[in-house]
Amino acid sequence: LSEFEIDDYSAAPDAEQAPSGPAPVVAVVGRPNVGKSTLVNRIIGRRQAVVEDVPGVTRDRVPYDAQWNGRRFTVVDTGGWEPDAKDRAAAIAAQAEIAVQTADVVIFVVDVTVGATDVDEAAVKMLRRSSKPVILVANKADNQNLEIEATSLWSLALGEPHPISALHGRGSGDLLDAILEAMPPAPPIIEGGPRGPRRVALVGRPNVGKSSLLNRLAKEERAVVDSVAGTTVDPVDSLVEMDGEVWQFVDTAGLRKRVNQASGTEYYASLRTAGAVEAAEVAVVLLDSSETISEQDQRVLTSVVEAGRALVIAFNKWDLVDEDRRYYLDKEIDRDLKRIPWAIRVNISAKTGRAVDKLAPALRRALAAWEQRVATGALNQWLTALTQATPHPVRGGRAPRVLFATQAGVAPPRFVLFTTGPLDAGYLRFVERKLREEFGYEGTPIEVSVRPRK
Ligand code: GDP
Ligand code: GDP
Repeated sequence: LSEFEIDDYSAAPDAEQAPSGPAPVVAVVGRPNVGKSTLVNRIIGRRQAVVEDVPGVTRDRVPYDAQWNGRRFTVVDTGGWEPDAKDRAAAIAAQAEIAVQTADVVIFVVDVTVGATDVDEAAVKMLRRSSKPVILVANKADNQNLEIEATSLWSLALGEPHPISALHGRGSGDLLDAILEAMPPAPPIIEGGPRGPRRVALVGRPNVGKSSLLNRLAKEERAVVDSVAGTTVDPVDSLVEMDGEVWQFVDTAGLRKRVNQASGTEYYASLRTAGAVEAAEVAVVLLDSSETISEQDQRVLTSVVEAGRALVIAFNKWDLVDEDRRYYLDKEIDRDLKRIPWAIRVNISAKTGRAVDKLAPALRRALAAWEQRVATGALNQWLTALTQATPHPVRGGRAPRVLFATQAGVAPPRFVLFTTGPLDAGYLRFVERKLREEFGYEGTPIEVSVRPRK
């Protein structure tokens, strides 16, 4: 890679895309030696290309993050797929098929110094049958004469050939523009700008101590601020300063007015919870440590997980728990919360103020995990090792393979696994658990979905 110059085409590699929508997948297809790998390196810039040198990571399984003109996408080099195929035509057809089924855009690469071969023609037949946009690349057009040569590739009936030199960079800007044009429309980018305060939902069944906690925070951590310069805050919200930062507790009007929560029906309580959770980025679910975790508590927790918000569980009234019960209580809690072992827990007392200062750091940790993004290269190195060590169990004589994965979004983190077939729910849970073990994600739900080729 280092023997030739690579212009850095990945325009703003550090600029994060807004946390909406998966990055489109662009697959590169073509015979061996036409320059697919060189083209992929050209598209992604030198930053991640090092991944290829990692032993045990096969080239066909490593997709890469790329950016052009502020648009993020994933490039997949299909180079080594189906290495066991008998003849070349079959191999490339199989490769093209996978590309067509998993990609949003297909780049078909032909070596212009050779011209279209029979093998190319066979692949084109299959590509034309698909409804995916195909971009025809005439590679190795290192000079003007070869560029003119590229026009002969109109015969493939894949539209306009794009003459480029992946090796020297010639024509690659125009190609990247064409790739962007062929992609599905971009989700609207939400302007970052100066972000307002973090939005927190304070929820829990009646009498767990929500209004007591809010009052405690307002008193201890300096008065509830009613307005902060430059922010517009809904009058039903409360601004509270904790640990040197202003936080926006959403939908707390009822709590501030000390409306008797217990008198409301559970139905109204749950509506209120849902509204607050929806409006928030992170939820503090208050539980009463002096009582066992009830079904109503579980429903509140579920609503946070299902809404995909970061989660901190605060065990309130810890002052009521005596020393010798604490050990058993921990065991009990582990059992009751075994479906959400990743939730961050703090033991507090709104009454005495115990450990209330632990709340802000816990919220920050949960939010950081909620917005964490794992680079595609690192994700797939890990995934390749995992699926090699523990492949999917064989079902009816075949086992679906995981081809590659991408993180499709953040807040909460969402992953897509591209596979050769549907996965067992148990295997999917296994992958999710291992993903958490490897990358953390403490304090946030994550979503793992499967895109099987069919
Ligand atoms: P792949 O098997 O399709 O991935 O092909 P590679 O990317 O490994 O390239 C095969 C050979 O073609 C290598 O020796 C590259 O240096 C060379 N190559 C790739 N792109 C170009 C190009 O634009 N011009 C020239 N002259 N050679 C190229
Ligand atoms: P809400 O319905 O969730 O807003 O709960 P409240 O804040 O009204 O509290 C319900 C009851 O629990 C009140 O009697 C509070 O004084 C009491 N309480 C709240 N927090 C604590 C705590 O940390 N320790 C103890 N011992 N009592 C608490």
